[in-house]
Amino acid sequence: MFINGQWSSAESGNEFEVTNPATGEVIGLVPDGGAPDAEAAIVAADAAFGSWSKTTAYERADILYRAWQLMNDQAEDLAALMTREQGKPLKASRAEVAYAASFLRYYAEEATRVAGEWLPSSRANQRFLSLRQPVGVVAAVTPWNYPISMLTRKMGPALAAGCTIVLKPAEATPLCAKAVFEILTEAGVPDGVINLVTALDPKPIGEVFTTHQLVNKVTFTGSTAVGRLLAGVAASNLKRVSVELGGHAPFIVYPDADPVRAAKGAAALKFLNSGQACISPNRLYVHESAADAFISTMVERVRKVKAGPGTEEGVGVGPLVNAAAVTKVADQVDDAVTRGASALVGGTRLTEDNFGAGHFYAPTLLTGVDSTMKIYREETFGPVAPVITYTDDDDVLALANDTNYGLAAYVYTNNLSTAMTAFEGLRFGIIGINDVNPTSAAAPFGGMKDSGLGREGGAEGISEYLETKLGGFAI
Ligand code: ADP
Repeated sequence: MFINGQWSSAESGNEFEVTNPATGEVIGLVPDGGAPDAEAAIVAADAAFGSWSKTTAYERADILYRAWQLMNDQAEDLAALMTREQGKPLKASRAEVAYAASFLRYYAEEATRVAGEWLPSSRANQRFLSLRQPVGVVAAVTPWNYPISMLTRKMGPALAAGCTIVLKPAEATPLCAKAVFEILTEAGVPDGVINLVTALDPKPIGEVFTTHQLVNKVTFTGSTAVGRLLAGVAASNLKRVSVELGGHAPFIVYPDADPVRAAKGAAALKFLNSGQACISPNRLYVHESAADAFISTMVERVRKVKAGPGTEEGVGVGPLVNAAAVTKVADQVDDAVTRGASALVGGTRLTEDNFGAGHFYAPTLLTGVDSTMKIYREETFGPVAPVITYTDDDDVLALANDTNYGLAAYVYTNNLSTAMTAFEGLRFGIIGINDVNPTSAAAPFGGMKDSGLGREGGAEGISEYLETKLGGFAI
């Protein structure tokens, strides 16, 4: 753990093992922190806030630029570590490190754009000034699926704003978190400004983060169930809250779309990170006139997706995070097949030979999916593409919106009016129009409904860490 500028063990002295999900091999031991460690980290962050918040925006920007540079310099080592700890193919790890670094650069730039306003008053002898100040101590909880970029997406703007941070990474990926802290420290972040608490059991840490008097803001990325819990407790203690949660993304292929291009997009997107992404498409609505071309291209593409350890050349799908994740995917696919869906590709666990030691599920294409199946409503977090064929009689936007989630949605069409109607009508925070990668450090990322509160990235991303203060000056 990293508290007040010192690498330390847990107060209890306990440790837990980190394993490689492709092989089951133990790759590290980290401190198993508890409530006293979380409290010590918060006290350190609070003590550091006074001086850190008074640094100039340029000083903070310089540190973030250096961290961006260091992350780029170390990209290859970080990618290798990520593949070992999280499992994704090396190419995907490299892409994530680049994405993670982009938040450091973007918020180095954004730090110097935080400005107040001079506002009109109805009194001739009064002046109004608004000022934007850092919220204070930020408690962050991050997930394992993007174990480096989910840290920089929170820490970049929080540091740029002048906040101090305590962070608990996912228990599956503490080594990636440690690497991020090493980089930020080497870049010059002062003692106490960033603090890392690792723990096997997240509950006691979450309780301290959401109830401690000295925490001003809680930011979380992970499942809707946990986000709801943490946001509820944090809100009842009147802390600022932002949560980025689960999704169930529709992917609509309209009759006027190019079905081959849409299928290539869907196949590329669906298997990213083995489907373990909150913006992964979960319901592929394909118009009946486009279905043959779409499905035959998907079959071809999905057959080519090779599963295996992320370190192996040519692998497109790595292991899932743990055994429970494989069981959940298998359960959803089995349920769909029992209710009439067809697994045109995959549809099984991979347990033979080298797969046996890891947590693998075959890249899978399901057709004939309908609303009676679990996969139609539950987030999958696995390499399964479920296709639903719709007809002219169906209101596809209403079908797409029929979910409690509201994170990402995708639309393929070559008609501008259709694209605009879908863009406006879909109740999701992020819409890809003929585009499977609608993300960038400069763009607001976040969801509606059960997918969360607040936005990360872009100018909105730093606003989450700023308070507005009004000054009325009588002259
Ligand atoms: P997933 O199901 O994808 O693992 P989680 O929401 O369980 O998603 O995990 C995301 C993050 O939330 C991880 O860092 C995990 O340790 C943390 N977490 C899970 N349960 C709690 C809890 N009760 N309190 C605080 N953090 C939690």
